[in-house]
Amino acid sequence: MRVLVITGAGVSAESGIPTFRGKDGYWRSLDPAKLATPEAFARDPKLVWEWYRERRQRIRNAQPNAGHIAIAKLSQRADNFLLVTQNVDDLHARAGLPKEKMVQIHGDIFITRCSRCDFSFSERNEEQQQIPRCAKCALLMRPGVVWFGEQLPWNELHRVENYLDRGSCDLVIVAGTTATFGYIIDWALRASRDGGELIEVNPEETPLSQFATQLVREPAAIALPRIVDALLISRLSEL
Ligand SMILES: [Zn+2]
Repeated sequence: MRVLVITGAGVSAESGIPTFRGKDGYWRSLDPAKLATPEAFARDPKLVWEWYRERRQRIRNAQPNAGHIAIAKLSQRADNFLLVTQNVDDLHARAGLPKEKMVQIHGDIFITRCSRCDFSFSERNEEQQQIPRCAKCALLMRPGVVWFGEQLPWNELHRVENYLDRGSCDLVIVAGTTATFGYIIDWALRASRDGGELIEVNPEETPLSQFATQLVREPAAIALPRIVDALLISRLSEL
């Protein structure tokens, strides 16, 4: 069984990580979508860092939910598995999903990297207090995430493309993403191109819904454990 899973903010929201959308996402009455840009960082790096440091702390205090755990379980049973997540937190990893089976297409919030050169380090456990400067070139360092208006990281894109090129999938699950980025739809359709099942798990309709073979209008933490258990039982009965 070859499986591709794509997850978005909805999966982490159920662990208490606010999405960028709606009033819940606001921070000090600021819209995070306007803080997560190269322009905001150039204008006020201190403010942008304060926001990311709070968000990192919130993620450290959060726990993976039943949706994360179900995906990790599925990854162990599938012959060939890849998760592509838009989430920059580490909840999939903490649920037990190994790094080599996961692509964080929007980066990793715990990485601090230089805004110019390739110098970076992890702040997964401890947080610096000042605005970090690069040890190599002395430029300001920034969070290792993809901001609005920026390109996706080439290495990670390449890993997704490679996986899709190696063959089509029997099963594609897209959970907790509004699928507003064209590449999410593109990858889901390419992966399921030879008649694979395409399951969308999202409380609301998205641009992907019209292509799905199965629509599950529930939050991921409720739907995914049930879907994964049913799949594993039906695979076992085929043996
Ligand atoms: Zn540098």
